[in-house]
Amino acid sequence: MLKEPSESKKRLSICRSQGLSISVNGVPARLAAGKARRIMEKRHNPDLSMEIGEKDGVKGEKGMADIKIDRVIRTKRKSIALILTDEGKLIVRSPVNTSNKYIEKVVNEKRNWIIKKQEMIKRRSNSYEPKKYVNGEKFLILGESYGLKIVSAPVKDITIDGKQILLPEGYLSKADKNMLAWYKKQAKEFICRRVKRFSGLLGIKYNTVKISNAKKRWGSCSSKGNLNFSWRLYMAPAAVIDYVVVHELIHVEIPNHSKQYWSRVRALMPDYEKHRHWLYENQKKMSIE
Ligand SMILES: [Zn+2]
Repeated sequence: MLKEPSESKKRLSICRSQGLSISVNGVPARLAAGKARRIMEKRHNPDLSMEIGEKDGVKGEKGMADIKIDRVIRTKRKSIALILTDEGKLIVRSPVNTSNKYIEKVVNEKRNWIIKKQEMIKRRSNSYEPKKYVNGEKFLILGESYGLKIVSAPVKDITIDGKQILLPEGYLSKADKNMLAWYKKQAKEFICRRVKRFSGLLGIKYNTVKISNAKKRWGSCSSKGNLNFSWRLYMAPAAVIDYVVVHELIHVEIPNHSKQYWSRVRALMPDYEKHRHWLYENQKKMSIE
C-alpha cells in the first residue's frame, strides 16, 4: 500500500489540513514563533483564510463583538490573518504587538466573511454519511453518481455497467478494501494518462507518479519531479483532476505559490478557481468508508 508522503517538508501540496495543534489563546505560542508561522503558512487552506494588509483600514463597530475567536497566534509577521479550521473555528494570526482590542475590531470588520465561511463549513459537514455497501447506494466516479449493485455470478471483479457499479457478492465481507483497491487502480490509470498529456503541453518533465491515500492533500510533488496524487481524486470531475495535475506539474518548475506560479496555471487553465472550489465543497464526499 502506498503511504502518505513522508518527506512532507520538501513537498508542496495544494490542499492542506487547516487545523493546528498549538494552543495559544492570547498568550505566546508554545512553539517558537518562527516554527509556528511555518506550520501555519504551510497548512492553511487559501479558501478559508483572509490576509488583512496594513493598508486595509479597520473601522470596527460597537456592540458587534459576537464572533468567537478560538485562538490568537502572535508571531513575527506584519499583517493579521483570519483562518477558519475544518471545524469552523476561528484562528487569528497577528503581529506580536497587536492588541486584543484591535484584533476584535478586525474580526468585527470581517464578520460577514467569517459567518459566510462558517455556514459553508456547517453545510459541508452535514453532507456525508458513512457507506453501508447496500444496493442503490451512491458512489462518485469522475464527478458523477453511480449506484451500487450487489451481484452474484458471473461478475468476478468490480465492474461498471452503465451508471451502476457491480460488486460481486463474495466481496461484501471486505467491501471497502475491495472498493479501495479498485479506485486506486482506476485513479492510477487515469491520472497517469493526464500527467503524460499535460507534461507534454507544458513542456515540463516529471519522474514518477504515485497514488496516495491522502484525504486532503490532493497532490504533491518533490523537487526531483516525483508526483503524488490521492486516489480520491478519481471521484472528482476530470477537469478537477486536470487542475490538480497541472498544479503539481508546474510546481516541478516553480516550487511556490508566487504570482508567477499562478499566472502559469491561469495561462493553461483560466477557470482553475472553480476546480479548487469543487474540491473544497466536495472533500467530505470523496470517501468510500
Ligand atoms: Zn501548490
